[in-house]
Amino acid sequence: MTPLQQISAPLLAWYDAGHRSLPWREIVSPYRTWVSEIMLQQTRVAAVIPYFQRFMAAFPSVEALAAAEEGQLMALWQGLGYYSRARNLHKAARDIVGNYAGVFPDNFADIRKLPGIGDYTAGAIASIAFGEAVPAVDGNVLRVVARLTDCEENILSPALRRRVTAELQAVIPRDRSGDFNQAMMELGAMVCLPNTPPRCEECPCRAFCQGYESGRAASLPVREKNAAKRRETYTVFVLRRAGSEAVVQRSSQGLLASLWEYPNVLGTLSETEAARQLSGWQVVPHKWLKKEKKRHIFTHIVWDMTVYTIEITGDGCKEWCWRNHDNAADYPMPTAFSKLSKH
Ligand code: SF4
Repeated sequence: MTPLQQISAPLLAWYDAGHRSLPWREIVSPYRTWVSEIMLQQTRVAAVIPYFQRFMAAFPSVEALAAAEEGQLMALWQGLGYYSRARNLHKAARDIVGNYAGVFPDNFADIRKLPGIGDYTAGAIASIAFGEAVPAVDGNVLRVVARLTDCEENILSPALRRRVTAELQAVIPRDRSGDFNQAMMELGAMVCLPNTPPRCEECPCRAFCQGYESGRAASLPVREKNAAKRRETYTVFVLRRAGSEAVVQRSSQGLLASLWEYPNVLGTLSETEAARQLSGWQVVPHKWLKKEKKRHIFTHIVWDMTVYTIEITGDGCKEWCWRNHDNAADYPMPTAFSKLSKH
C-alpha cells in the first residue's frame, strides 16, 4: 500500500485527539469557511484571526458583504495585504446574491466559478461546509505528500499537483472529507512544518512515511527556484502639515488598485532633485526631518524606496488629501506605505 492509501485512519484519529481551536472552526458555514480560506491565502493564522473576527462582526452574512461599500471593506482589510482578495470576495458576494438568491452554491463545480476561488479554496469549502468528497491541495498539502512519498519532483509543477490531487481524490474518506482536508492542513501547520525540520517524532504518519524512512524528509520538498522578482525604484515623500500627511489615491487598475499612497515618483532623487520636485508640486519644505531607504517585497516585485519625511507649507496638488490619525480609515493605505510613517 502507498502512504496515501494508509493515511486516512491515523490522520483522522490524530486530528480527533486534539487540534487548534480557530474562530472559523467554532461555527461552520460556507460563508465563514470561504472568508477564512481567502484570508489565509499567503497569510499566517495568527495574523488572520483578528481580521476574521472584525470582518464577521462588520459583515455577518453574504448579503451584508454584497451590500458593503468598497471603502469600508478595504479599510477592514488594511494591513492584510493582497488586496485583490478583498475585491474578489466583494464581487463573489454580489454574484451569490444576484445569481444564487443569496444561497452559497453547494458543490465544487459551482463554487469554483466564483471570482477569486481556485481549486484549493473550492475544495476546502465544498468539503468542509458541504461534505463533498474532494481534496483541497495547496502548498502545505503538497509538502506533506512530497515528504510522505519521498518525492523529489518539483512541487511547483502543475503536473505533480494534478497527480497528488488525483491520488488524494482516490483515498479521501467519503464520510469525513472536510475533517480529512483540515487534518492535512493541521499536520502541515503543526507537525510537518515548512522551512524547518519536520517534527517526525510527533507525527501520526511516521510508520509509513517514506521520507522519514529514507532520511530525506527534511530536505523535501524540491521547489524550483522562483523566477527573479522585478525591481522597481521610487522616491516617496511623507509630507506633513499640521498633524496630517499628504496622500493620493492609486489608479483603479493594477497593483494595490484604488488604495492610498504617499506622493512618489519613479527613480531615486537626490535632495536637490527632491526639492525641485516639491517646488513642482507647489509646496515649500519647512523642515527636512529624515531620509531613509526602505524596501517592500511583493510576490513578484520588489520596491526599493528612498523616503523623504518633510514638514511643508502649501496645499500641494489638487488630487492630494490630508490623512491623519482620526481620518485614516477613510484613506486605506497598503502596508508598503503605511509602514513608512506613524499615521
Ligand atoms: S513523518 Fe515526518 S516527514 Fe513524514 S509526514 Fe510526518 S512529519 Fe512529515
